[in-house]
Amino acid sequence: MKAIAVIPKTKNSVHLVEMDKPKISDIKDGKGVLVEVLRVGACGTDREINNAEYGIAPEGFEFLVLGHENFGRVVETGKNVKDLKAGDFVVATVRRPFGHSIYDAIGQQDFTTDAEYWERGISRIHGFMAEYYAESEDFLVKIPPKISEVAVLLEPLSIIEKGLKQAEDIQKRLDIWQPKTAAVLGTGNVGLLTVLALRLRGFEVHGFGKQLGKDYLNAELCEAIGATYDSTDELSVRDSTEKYGEYDLIFECTGYSPIIFEAMESLNENGILILSSVTGGDRKTDGVESDKINQEFVLGNRAMVGTVNASREHFEMGVKDIALAEAMFPGWLSKMMTHKVEGLENFEKVFDILENGGKYNAIKTYFEIAKI
Ligand code: BGC
Repeated sequence: MKAIAVIPKTKNSVHLVEMDKPKISDIKDGKGVLVEVLRVGACGTDREINNAEYGIAPEGFEFLVLGHENFGRVVETGKNVKDLKAGDFVVATVRRPFGHSIYDAIGQQDFTTDAEYWERGISRIHGFMAEYYAESEDFLVKIPPKISEVAVLLEPLSIIEKGLKQAEDIQKRLDIWQPKTAAVLGTGNVGLLTVLALRLRGFEVHGFGKQLGKDYLNAELCEAIGATYDSTDELSVRDSTEKYGEYDLIFECTGYSPIIFEAMESLNENGILILSSVTGGDRKTDGVESDKINQEFVLGNRAMVGTVNASREHFEMGVKDIALAEAMFPGWLSKMMTHKVEGLENFEKVFDILENGGKYNAIKTYFEIAKI
């Protein structure tokens, strides 16, 4: 079968490989499921891996098959598989509990304290940019056929679901927390999904991006579901509090770390800031008003949390939110899926769009490997 791989730590090494088709017997306990890959999303992480900033090949391989945003159809199941059958649609989670930490042992590998982690398509395990994959039933989430058209967005949404669940859990420290306003920093595909998830929860949402709002699809998508959009070139996050008030919740997904300090200054009392950008560079920020920020955090009981990856629970929350989104804002998610590339052999096109997202006006670029 065909697959798309990189040589980790070698810049721009993305290429097509020929591999053996996986088998359900690759999973030893009879819980193996063979999945035909239908669609795979491409994101900044794939771009960074191809830029040699990130990514580790599985043991015994010099290449890593890319792809973690996935959607597929079950072809065959092992004898101990209970909840899935041929024809079912599935999305696989990304991280596996192969580490040594207590969190791996209890199935919360998204909270691993190990320095090494195992993620399909990212670190130490081949990913889903392939015609087929085999996986244990334990890591597959069943998808209702009604949401199949947009289900490739579930993995990025799961990241947001986890972030918002962390915020909710942390805010249980307050006997009453009735958040009203939220700011979402970054309105790429993760940012837009965050705007959506917060609108579904009834927040007044303010999205911020770099690009000017005029004739900008991302801005139109914010406004279409009742959020605002501002370009930080015209209104900084800090100044926006004069217009919109301080925010009860801020979700950061820009990939631009200096903005987190402005976000810290824009939080309301008892508010929470969620950080989700994996900033692999070595940027430093001068002029941070650390006394002021520290004092406001202390005197206002403010909180900040980092969040990465997602567990099965967060994927399941995402399935419900996609269904709710399709009911409340029909067609909105499909509008995010701007660039479909048919066939793995056209991988160069996908990576060109990833590298030049602005030129293409791309929000979500994805492979269609087989028809739904
Ligand atoms: C993926 C996560 C992963 C993270 C760090 C993200 O792009 O969506 O599943 O944990 O990268 O590798």
